Amino acid sequence: MRSDTREPGAPPTAGMIPLAVPNIGGREWAYVKDCLDTGWVSSVGDYVTRFETELASHVGAKHGVAVSSGTAALHLALQLAGIRPDEEVVVPSLTFIAPANAVRYVGAWPAFVDVDAAFWQLDPVQLEAFLREDCTRDAGGLRNRRTGRRVSAVLPVDTLGHPCDLEPIMRLAREFGLAVVEDACESLGAHYRGRPLGQWSPITCFSFNGNKTITTGGGGMIVTDDPDLARKGRYFATQAKDDPVEYVHGAVGYNYRLTNVQAAIGCAQLENLDTFVDRKRAIAERYIESLEAVPGITPMNEAPWVRSAFWMFTVLIEEARYGMDSRRLLQALDGYGVQTRPLWQPLHRSPAHTKSFARPCPVAERLSRDALSLPSSTDLTEQQQEAVIEAVRRCANT
Ligand SMILES: *Cc1c(COP(=O)(O)O)cnc(C)c1O
Repeated sequence: MRSDTREPGAPPTAGMIPLAVPNIGGREWAYVKDCLDTGWVSSVGDYVTRFETELASHVGAKHGVAVSSGTAALHLALQLAGIRPDEEVVVPSLTFIAPANAVRYVGAWPAFVDVDAAFWQLDPVQLEAFLREDCTRDAGGLRNRRTGRRVSAVLPVDTLGHPCDLEPIMRLAREFGLAVVEDACESLGAHYRGRPLGQWSPITCFSFNGNKTITTGGGGMIVTDDPDLARKGRYFATQAKDDPVEYVHGAVGYNYRLTNVQAAIGCAQLENLDTFVDRKRAIAERYIESLEAVPGITPMNEAPWVRSAFWMFTVLIEEARYGMDSRRLLQALDGYGVQTRPLWQPLHRSPAHTKSFARPCPVAERLSRDALSLPSSTDLTEQQQEAVIEAVRRCANT
């Protein structure tokens, strides 16, 4: 049996249908060559500014601050939101680990709540239950009764290309005086109630890692409408350097800037973002049509109030009806040359976050056990997708 253990985002192995690979089909070469020819390769240059301006304008935000990764964007965003050590930040249990880690980088603690069963995003009902049942208000603000910590922010994560139900989350944040940092790293190009992600929270973070919808090799961005936050973000991402000549630093900053070469790739990728999202949506539509009739398979879907970017198409496998569980299907599909991946370990079960507070998260646990992401690259051919669908059908009740 073949075994493709490489990271999603790596170039395809011959014969394998990969989970998600970069699509470098635009002007990347030309823009990178321009950087090399002019010598503008490092963390200042026209492409950095251009990438920031164009991405922010694409999502309808006023400012963009390009950084070295989505994780760096989250770390900076939490610092800019004023999150302090020993405070708590509400994070969904079912997501990639980066947002929970970023909360720890500022010395705060994630408080995990469950996702909803229909669209798999941070559940506003669970958020509200946490705020009303597990917390009390006192002179210092909102406090988690069990941990005694001050609850100061919520970090909604738009996973798999699908936006969270942001309106009720924002309403609760206002009512309880919480800061909001949104992690849209997997969902660039998605819309919530007719408006792109990037306009809904005071600070939204994006990632341009190799497996994301657009890539710079590695990179991230903060977008915001607040000029002061953008200025501070840029300052902290540049070692908090106060003077263009003298090495005077007004605070402990970071080296989090994106390079001009990476931004050049980003500018070229951004020119294809709409095409990529259309393509992902077409792939999703075909998977849904072809797989929803397979007994024991439940394809992901989109809420009527969103336009999902369908970053990574994912299905649930109900072992009793399908005939095997998600991990056996992963192995079987590997044998057919199809690379798939389960979703994340629920973060309240992660050895990295055992000391954090968590409400019960049965939906996160079920999704983590039963979900499998299918090949979703924008350059997936019709024949390849047909082969994936055929393999999933063939494995049913065998
Ligand atoms: C990819 C991702 C990140 C981190 O982005 P990097 O650029 O890999 O650091 C953060 N949050 C989520 C939900 C992600 O999927």
